[in-house]
Amino acid sequence: PHIVIAIDGPAASGKSSVARALARKLRYVYVNTGAMYRAVTWLAVDKGVPVVDAGRVQQLLHFTKVECGVEDGQSTILLDDVDPTPHLVDEAVNANVSAIATLPDVRRLLTEKQRAFAYDYDVVMEGRDIGSAVFPETPYKFYVDASPEIRALRRARQGLQDSIAARDKVDSSRRTSPLVIAEDAHVIDSSNLTVEGVVGEIFGRLKQ
Ligand code: C5P
Repeated sequence: PHIVIAIDGPAASGKSSVARALARKLRYVYVNTGAMYRAVTWLAVDKGVPVVDAGRVQQLLHFTKVECGVEDGQSTILLDDVDPTPHLVDEAVNANVSAIATLPDVRRLLTEKQRAFAYDYDVVMEGRDIGSAVFPETPYKFYVDASPEIRALRRARQGLQDSIAARDKVDSSRRTSPLVIAEDAHVIDSSNLTVEGVVGEIFGRLKQ
């Protein structure tokens, strides 16, 4: 059995930078599950499949080869051999990813893929439901949050058009695996911390 460090939190909380840095420090594989939901969203948008049409999205996934892997210590995803990475922060993806993430068939498929990473690797996995739904049994659960002002600022600095408030709302209220803080998660407010500061705090906890 491999070690899973779950890092959840809302959009632009700083969890991606933290998860990536922690994975590098530990030499674990960094798995970005948001990228997986974004990849499926891009696929639907690219194929002209309405993201609210559960049946058509399911059919699209059924006929698409979804391959996850690891390269340079990071998770990768290919859809029919195409790497969607250049499109993952397209405006259309930002705008539609929360809708895709509400679909139970999509969540089932991606949850399966996410669990498969831990068959082969120790992982730092970031997302919304990693501690609460994907790996509820891992003792290493962290929830990284930041004030709405700081999150808006961080997103703006990344130069992205992204209505994080709207995404948070859908992510928190959906029926399947909503963004919730796992009961046994260690909550970290990153508003006044650097990436190194948060990584240090997590590292300290892991050693206890
Ligand atoms: O992390 P990121 O902001 O890139 O995630 C994009 C979207 O993917 C989230 O707003 C959420 O709707 C969805 N997501 C999810 N479960 C995860 C990771 C992401 O529903 N584990």
